[in-house]
Amino acid sequence: MANGLQLTNLAVSIDNKHILKGVSLLVKPGELHAIMGPNGSGKSTLAYALAGHPAYTILSGSKAMLNGENIIELSPDERAQKGLFLAFQYPVEVPGVSVQNFLRQAYQARFEKQPKRLFKTVLEFRKHLQKITDALKISQDFLKRGLNEGFSGGEKKQLEILQLAVLEPKYVILDETDSGLDIDAIKKVAGSVSVLQKKLKFGVIVITHYQRILQYLKPDRVHVLVAGKIKQSGGADLVDELEKSGYTALEE
Ligand code: ADP
Ligand code: MG
Repeated sequence: MANGLQLTNLAVSIDNKHILKGVSLLVKPGELHAIMGPNGSGKSTLAYALAGHPAYTILSGSKAMLNGENIIELSPDERAQKGLFLAFQYPVEVPGVSVQNFLRQAYQARFEKQPKRLFKTVLEFRKHLQKITDALKISQDFLKRGLNEGFSGGEKKQLEILQLAVLEPKYVILDETDSGLDIDAIKKVAGSVSVLQKKLKFGVIVITHYQRILQYLKPDRVHVLVAGKIKQSGGADLVDELEKSGYTALEE
């Protein structure tokens, strides 16, 4: 059985609407794959289905394996404990919960099954977090903010990066993490993802419909999702080709 995040013939529906029509993909440890494609092609559906969002029905015959283990029947929390991390286009606002408390809860949930990794006191966790924020040059003030309350686009991304660093995932799915960011912010996010990927060696699926972030995060493989199916796969060169030709030729 393959080591990696392996999707075989993944078919997903929502409200009885068949959205993903058999997606197969293998992301090996440490690899970076990009999924590109037009609006409405099913990219976010893929991310939500992998996260275990209850609104999405995974149709029979589909397989999603994480390092040889089937994750389809697992709850979202169990998937996170196996090392799957998803960052979303529209993170939720949770007023009243500070960034640092949110991160501590997320950490404890992530490592619940690994008691040795748990911190006994809030203070111990804060020290651990401080090392991470120092390395990423994130201010302590940010940790005290309410979760997503009035966050700018850049601050939302900063939170995603912090989550990545804290949760030490094995596989990461970034859904349109570049949307709504200016060029400098994209460069910064991509830089942080690269640094963390080198350190933690996680596999990544970057979902985007623009090539810009892929100039900084060089993909090993690029897949084009059109109408719920992967219509084309290739190396990093495919990004430039798509930039020139667009998706229309693949939509016919
Ligand atoms: P992408 O991320 O590639 O733009 P999505 O996965 O968001 O595409 O959407 C794929 C298709 O699924 C679209 O036709 C969209 O209208 C439909 N869809 C997505 N979410 C829902 C939902 N909650 N209810 C009904 N249809 C949905
Ligand atoms: Mg989307």
